[in-house]
Amino acid sequence: MFRIGAHVSISSGYAKAVDREVDLGGNCGQIFAGSPRGWKVSRPEKDEAEKFRQKSEDRDVKPWIVHGTYLINFATPKSDLAEKSVKAVQGELDAAAALGIPYYVFHPGAHTGAGEEQGIQNIAERLSKIDIPDGVKLLLENTAGKGTTLGKTFDQLDTMVRSSDYSYSKLGICLDTCHMYAAGYDITEKQKLDDIIDDIEKVIGLDNIPFLHLNDSKHRASSEKDEHEHIGEGEIGEKGFELFINHEKLRDKPMVLETPENEKGFAWNIEKCKELRRGN
Ligand SMILES: [Zn+2]
Ligand SMILES: [Zn+2]
Repeated sequence: MFRIGAHVSISSGYAKAVDREVDLGGNCGQIFAGSPRGWKVSRPEKDEAEKFRQKSEDRDVKPWIVHGTYLINFATPKSDLAEKSVKAVQGELDAAAALGIPYYVFHPGAHTGAGEEQGIQNIAERLSKIDIPDGVKLLLENTAGKGTTLGKTFDQLDTMVRSSDYSYSKLGICLDTCHMYAAGYDITEKQKLDDIIDDIEKVIGLDNIPFLHLNDSKHRASSEKDEHEHIGEGEIGEKGFELFINHEKLRDKPMVLETPENEKGFAWNIEKCKELRRGN
């Protein structure tokens, strides 16, 4: 079954986010558990969490994923920032667990001069400090790779997981199409996409990628620029998304959109994905 949705706001409470998703035409979704540009985690009250679970069940919106705040940096050489980051990830993971949400994703961070190797080591050490609650998988998101940002390659992501005290039983990877493309993984032709998926299978394993982010890219392949565009209207284009969304090895994974919110909005993008989809 095609599970497609968008990032929705929790500004009127967690349960309302489920209605928002359905109104957009989505049947899975993503939320923040607080402010995306702040450290404060919004811990759901027990009855609010229960309402969210019940409504998701009743309206068949699943799975959900919680996206971590953008301030998190597990690669940083600065201990105060690292401490705040670990605390934020723990709080957001606990919120996900309370809501019955099975996935949590964040961007691993930038080494800001410490070097790639040290940065990855930092990420692994901080991952090991987290107490991942039962029922939640912590996902690292691939990045476009700008500046000293880590997580651009499948190898880097895999090394982060393998260098931590955890394994793929509690950790996983979330792949974002815009970030992949901007990082140099050109997914716009069948043969190239097949080769990239072969590479993913060898390095990470497809089972370790339970969630996908669908975004077109404003910039060319290898630009390392992370700027999202509406589906089909960026450099990946309709053909690229048609290949990606229908690929036999990806089509059963839930996909959420983080496309720009302007005149087109998420409903338009969800509809576009449904148009490009073949079969269920
Ligand atoms: Zn993303
Ligand atoms: Zn992005």
